[in-house]
Amino acid sequence: MIPAVLPTYNRAPMSFVSGEGSWLVEADGRRFLDLGAGIAVNVLGHANPALVSALTTQAGALWHTSNLYQIPQQQALAEKLVEHTFADTCFFTNSGTEACELAVKMARKYWTEKGQPERHVILAFTGSFHGRSAAGIAAAGSEKMTRGFGPLLPGFRHLPFGDHDALTEAMKSPDVAAVILEPVQGEGGIVPVPDQCLKGLRDLCDQTGALLIFDEVQCGMGRTGKLFAHEWAGVSPDIMMVAKGIGGGFPLGALLATEDAAIGMTAGTHGSTYGGNPLACAVGNAVMDIVATDDFLAEVNRKAALFRQGLEGLVASHPDVFDFVRGSGLMLGLKCKMPNTDVLAAAYGQELCVIPAADNVLRLLPALNITDDDIREALIRLDRTAAALVPA
Ligand SMILES: *Cc1c(COP(=O)(O)O)cnc(C)c1O
Repeated sequence: MIPAVLPTYNRAPMSFVSGEGSWLVEADGRRFLDLGAGIAVNVLGHANPALVSALTTQAGALWHTSNLYQIPQQQALAEKLVEHTFADTCFFTNSGTEACELAVKMARKYWTEKGQPERHVILAFTGSFHGRSAAGIAAAGSEKMTRGFGPLLPGFRHLPFGDHDALTEAMKSPDVAAVILEPVQGEGGIVPVPDQCLKGLRDLCDQTGALLIFDEVQCGMGRTGKLFAHEWAGVSPDIMMVAKGIGGGFPLGALLATEDAAIGMTAGTHGSTYGGNPLACAVGNAVMDIVATDDFLAEVNRKAALFRQGLEGLVASHPDVFDFVRGSGLMLGLKCKMPNTDVLAAAYGQELCVIPAADNVLRLLPALNITDDDIREALIRLDRTAAALVPA
């Protein structure tokens, strides 16, 4: 008999009942150290007092009004995002995949507005992930996500990740509207795109006019030690998708754009019932006020260096279990030699939450305010995890 919850997930047996900082408490009382943060979502940890206060204060005043009216919390959050990024304007969504939908619509509308509606193709890369909507799965294009769901949304062309010649060639096609990529691939196995490649891509887009879309749903909001990952390369996109960390655990996403890229998005061309409601934006403002500060980001970088150094030592001590560590800031991937599912099960045995990804990688995406002590504890638990897999 089909379970009451549609069985699209293979769930681990834990049910957590409460959380505090980087810790999750299981119904039976066990305390798990959380290096997954709800898949890069809980950037300020569980039950963060500033976020609890922002949420409960707003909950007592007004939850939802719709976008038929002014929403001061939304206005304030948009102004913060505009102030701290390349963007001139923002649209709020409830998820990353909805931000992807709008990115695709905006890029196509742009070229219609410019009198070249035949420019509707979006170039994307293998190994990418852009969400589970019809546009999201068509954009990522992997067989695993698209099989059985055809016909797929047309107008996407997929290029092998890291193949500069294929990209240069594909950009010559006169129907290209935009290029979409994650500056650090997340689901694909924590694969950073080198800075010079992002620069090269920006140059190619500038030459042809194609819009550059960065999907920073996973790598944004301070995850890599900059507010947004592309800042490391010193280049800006025309359109950017944000979600996950922006709500700190409350469902919230955003699509950021330059004034030019947004030229076609006039009144009536897009909308959302919930997107950017007072409750979500009250929390989003509280997250931004903490994360988008130099002091906070400096701490992320210091902690990332501490964690990374420990992980290099871990890999060296357990060469049969781990291959290497890669990533950026507190977006780290442990490439495994054993099946990552076996390592994941062993980590659960040590009351440690990590997240599997493609390419036999385990993702480490802790709360960005994880303490030094919790980083040390994580390294101890990872060490025990590996030891349990290879008995001495
Ligand atoms: C998670 C993710 C998405 C989809 O976000 P949802 O909120 O699950 O819809 C899109 N792009 C990237 C890079 C992601 O990591």
